[in-house]
Amino acid sequence: APRVAIITGCSSGIGLSTAVMMAKDPSKGYIVYATMRNLAKKGDLEKAAGATLNKTLFITQLDVTRGDSIKRAVKDVFTKHKRIDILVNNAGHGSSGYIELVTDQQMRALFDVNFFGVVHLTQEVLPIMKKQRSGRIISVSSVGGITAWPFGEIYAASKFALEGFTESLSIGYRPFNIWVSSCQPGPVKTAFIANMGSANNQPEFLKLTEEKNIDKESKEVCGKIFKLLINSPTHDEEQQTPEEIASVIKGALEDEKPHLRYATSKLRLDYAKKYFVDPTGDAFCDTIVPHIIPDSLKQKK
Ligand code: NAD
Repeated sequence: APRVAIITGCSSGIGLSTAVMMAKDPSKGYIVYATMRNLAKKGDLEKAAGATLNKTLFITQLDVTRGDSIKRAVKDVFTKHKRIDILVNNAGHGSSGYIELVTDQQMRALFDVNFFGVVHLTQEVLPIMKKQRSGRIISVSSVGGITAWPFGEIYAASKFALEGFTESLSIGYRPFNIWVSSCQPGPVKTAFIANMGSANNQPEFLKLTEEKNIDKESKEVCGKIFKLLINSPTHDEEQQTPEEIASVIKGALEDEKPHLRYATSKLRLDYAKKYFVDPTGDAFCDTIVPHIIPDSLKQKK
């Protein structure tokens, strides 16, 4: 029988691609509940779903920040199929800004989506999976969930929190044949960066360097970081498509014994290897810090 899956954040990007790839599985292995916060944005998904719409792909409302929405979506799927085999926690938001200026409301809004949304939805499906004695949960974290980028403190914290949650859960639930994993994409070609400025009223990513209420040294550091990490040729080369990430997620769901963590490319795996091999964290900091110090902040020997 096809496995019943719930995926969050499917109006765009990685969620949309994953939902469609699973729904179009040649062996018809999945019935996908492609959920989204705002059903008015379902046009792209409907188009991409094509003939699978209302056959192997069903579009449902689910706002991960609302308990009532989570409960209703899970209940509807369970009532219809009497099981839930897969949860893909994909919905997420980016954020970037000088930490001195990020408001409490902005940080909490981000955690509500990236962390508490995952926790609450997971809490809702776990009892079902436990009774079934089977289940798969995979969360879209980020490479920022294992190495934190400068000026992305709150985003990194939310994804680190997600990683800790995933790791803890993955061990305690394996005796129930429930496998919990995360996947850590690097840069992906989606509306992710464009969306940063909108829904949560986060400071707009690309205007960070122009922020008026911050000292000029910080702006200088930030400018150097942008040059080093974002405007570099390797950044573009590393960019993956949402389909590439979707195939890593689908692959993980089809692995007999899923890993705890999935890098999304060989390059990302090599990156993670470097990071995990140095327990002091010095190697990671030292690849960046020497390149971003403005002359005015260089320590005199
Ligand atoms: P995206 O902006 O296209 O997708 C994010 C989706 O989450 C959107 O469809 C958005 O509507 C949805 N969402 C936001 N708040 C929600 C809520 N309250 N309830 C339900 N859905 C909500 O960008 P994407 O790149 O496809 O992002 C998907 C995931 O991938 C995110 O968790 C993101 O952190 C992660 N990620 C993205 C990148 C990248 O470079 N694009 C890199 C690493 C990780």
